[in-house]
Amino acid sequence: MGDMQQTGKAAPCCLQIDINKLGSSGKTEENFTFPFVPERQLLSLPSATIGKATVSVTVRLVKGGAVAEGKVTYTVNGECSRCLKPASATFTEEFTASFGTAKDAEYPVRAGIIDLTAAVEELIVTASPQVIYCREDCKGLCPDCGADLNAGECNCKNFREVNQNGSSQG
Ligand SMILES: [Zn+2]
Ligand SMILES: [Zn+2]
Repeated sequence: MGDMQQTGKAAPCCLQIDINKLGSSGKTEENFTFPFVPERQLLSLPSATIGKATVSVTVRLVKGGAVAEGKVTYTVNGECSRCLKPASATFTEEFTASFGTAKDAEYPVRAGIIDLTAAVEELIVTASPQVIYCREDCKGLCPDCGADLNAGECNCKNFREVNQNGSSQG
C-alpha cells in the first residue's frame, strides 16, 4: 500500500504535457486527447454550465518550446434563450498556442511541461455562445402573454394581426 504513495511531485495530468519526455522519446510531435473540467465559470450565458468537454491536440516540438494545435469540443447546458426550457448545445473551437521559455512566449514552458489550461480557458471565454436553443426552430414565448408558442399559438396572435392590418391602412 505504501508503495503507491507519491509525495512532493504532482503527476502530469489534465492538460499538461511533458515536452522534455516527448523530445527524449525521439518524436517531434504527438497527439493527445484530454477530458477538460473547467474550474471556473467560462461562459457568458447566465446559469449555463459546461458539461462534457474534450481537448484533442497535436503538440509539435519547435526550437525553444512547442506549438499546440487542436480543438476543444464542449457541451453547454443551460436554458433555451427563446423559451427558457432546459437546453444543451455542443460547440467545437480550434486553437493554436505556442509555448516557449523566452520572455515574449505566448505561454510559458515550466520545468519542461506545457499546460494547455490557460489557452483552452481563453478559447472558451472568447467563443462563449451568447444564445443556445432547445431546438433550432424553437418558437419561444409570446412576448405579450408568455405562452410557450411551441405548444401552439396563443390568442395574442389574432389580436396582433388585427392591429397590424388596422395600422397599415392608415
Ligand atoms: Zn426553446
Ligand atoms: Zn400571447
